[in-house]
Amino acid sequence: MDGDGIGPEIVPEAVRVVQAVASMKEDLDIEWVHLSVGYQSLLERGETLPESTLSGLADLDGWILGPIGHMDYPKDNPRAVNPHPIIRKRFSLHSNIRPARSHPSISSIHEDVDLVIVRENNEGFQPDRNVFAGSGEFMPSPDMVVSVRVISRGNSEFVARTAFELARDRGAKRRVTIVHKNTVFKMGCGLFVDCCREVSMDYPDIQCDEVVVDTFAMKLAMAPQEFDVIVTTNMFGDILSDEAGGLVGGLGMAPGLCVGPKYAMAQATHGSAPDIAGKGIANPYAMVVSAAMLMSWLGQRAGDRSAIEVGDVISRAMDAVLADGRHLTPDLGGSAGSTQMADAVIDHIRRVEA
Ligand code: ATP
Repeated sequence: MDGDGIGPEIVPEAVRVVQAVASMKEDLDIEWVHLSVGYQSLLERGETLPESTLSGLADLDGWILGPIGHMDYPKDNPRAVNPHPIIRKRFSLHSNIRPARSHPSISSIHEDVDLVIVRENNEGFQPDRNVFAGSGEFMPSPDMVVSVRVISRGNSEFVARTAFELARDRGAKRRVTIVHKNTVFKMGCGLFVDCCREVSMDYPDIQCDEVVVDTFAMKLAMAPQEFDVIVTTNMFGDILSDEAGGLVGGLGMAPGLCVGPKYAMAQATHGSAPDIAGKGIANPYAMVVSAAMLMSWLGQRAGDRSAIEVGDVISRAMDAVLADGRHLTPDLGGSAGSTQMADAVIDHIRRVEA
């Protein structure tokens, strides 16, 4: 699903890179299906999220979704819905895994950053996804708004488990930090922290600590190297993952994977970047690495070594292209286009990994 803005420029590059690695593996055959979503879908089919897309997704193992620029959709058209919260909710993609890693050759505020934020995806303060019908935000009078925040045991335990599993897999610092504000949101954040603590009992090999969100925002800016895996609620995670992306070179460097019990969807942290859309200069890193994360997840779920290797090969090739520095997009200080940067990744893969 290409999505909006820079989506049609970076999603095909991500597909091309994954396919380049997959085609080198005899036992891996990927069937690609293109599904309609977003503004282009509104123009062609009269809706931003056709039912055929939702039913098509259910038949696939994993999905790649480009950024969505729903702020540009017509406000008075009920068929111009924001697709990604609906997809995340319909398929129970409760965990949003968002890594932030610095690269020695890319100018960034800090060096040696390697952390992952696991954000709850489907409830919290987000009014378009935290109620079954209607909106989690309403106006009792013209001068007053009430916003409802939802925290459930089920989703909290699910994201906590995602975080602890990840800390175990990464094997680096083996640490999970619970970010919350239970000092004020005694019940909402209280329940979230309790659920994380309970899940932590199943992972005695993983260190678990707790930091209040405002203190964490400061620590993240000053010493991000301290952290390994961070687990938090929806809105805190939304804000902190953009901050983390900013620490390591900007949003073009911020990949993401939405994960549920059955499905996973590669979706970069950044939006549709309307300011650079159509120029062919968007950084494909976040989208390509999101797709690599999807391949690793699919491989781990199915016990498929080849699929896991696709993810590993792409990560190594991306690192090599960043280190080489000759084919970087303007946000990274270079002058290459999205296609040239993806070409360099594919070229490296064919030369070094074949
Ligand atoms: P939206 O309304 O879709 O959220 P936005 O502009 O508010 O769009 P982003 O799309 O996340 O938010 O963009 C924030 C800034 O980061 C913009 O200046 C954009 O150009 C830049 N940016 C985002 N993604 C990329 C990328 N892949 N490559 C280069 N720059 C990017």
